Amino acid sequence: MVLLRDDAIVLRRFEYGETSRIAHILTRERGRISVLAKGAHREKSPFLGALDHLNRIAVVYSHRPEREIQILTEAEVRDGHRRLHRDLARFAAALYMAELVAEAAREGEPAPALFDLLGETLEALATGKGDPAPITLVFELRFLSIIGVGPSFDACRGCGEPLPRAGAAALAPGEGGAVCERCSATVRVVGRVPVGTLRTADRLGRLRPAEALRVRLGARLGRGLRETMDLYLGYHFERVPRARPWLGLGKDRA
Ligand SMILES: [Zn+2]
Repeated sequence: MVLLRDDAIVLRRFEYGETSRIAHILTRERGRISVLAKGAHREKSPFLGALDHLNRIAVVYSHRPEREIQILTEAEVRDGHRRLHRDLARFAAALYMAELVAEAAREGEPAPALFDLLGETLEALATGKGDPAPITLVFELRFLSIIGVGPSFDACRGCGEPLPRAGAAALAPGEGGAVCERCSATVRVVGRVPVGTLRTADRLGRLRPAEALRVRLGARLGRGLRETMDLYLGYHFERVPRARPWLGLGKDRA
């Protein structure tokens, strides 16, 4: 058993027994781990309030590789992102991102890029500025790129030829982006998307989360991007709930 110290973000938490709490946290150095905070609900617990959703915390935990749940010994809140908790759309968007990260991060694998992306995005959301929809899109695009599944929409992912300048292209998440008509016959296609929408997605994917605060998307382009990301993410993550209802975009809007 060793004591490990790390920076972490709380992705999910569950009550455990009468007084304890289990949390899935994303750590910088060891990826996603599960920790048990014994007595977290007791009045004088040092963990009180530390394991709330989306908190950025500094942790010390005793680690045994054969154990599925590690034992938390210290947790100190570095940033509670309090403003997030006062705005339903922002809070829901942040929880959705945490779910994506919880699905993708692996235990024991360092995850500095994912950690920084989630941390920067939560900070951007917690400013209360900007529109949460483009912030979410930028997060999704960068997240997909970090976990190695694209997307890149600058050329056909099958043959490398440029995509048409107008019209639509076939979305092929398994290939890491979009494909031309010819290649679309040989790979799994989940939908067709206007190439203008794909070009915007490529540009958004190069922004940092803080830069997304300044992005304004028209309703139609915003909807198109949302649907594209839902198709793309739906291919890779069947279990993750879609962002659309919370962001007021797309088909679910009455
Ligand atoms: Zn092609």
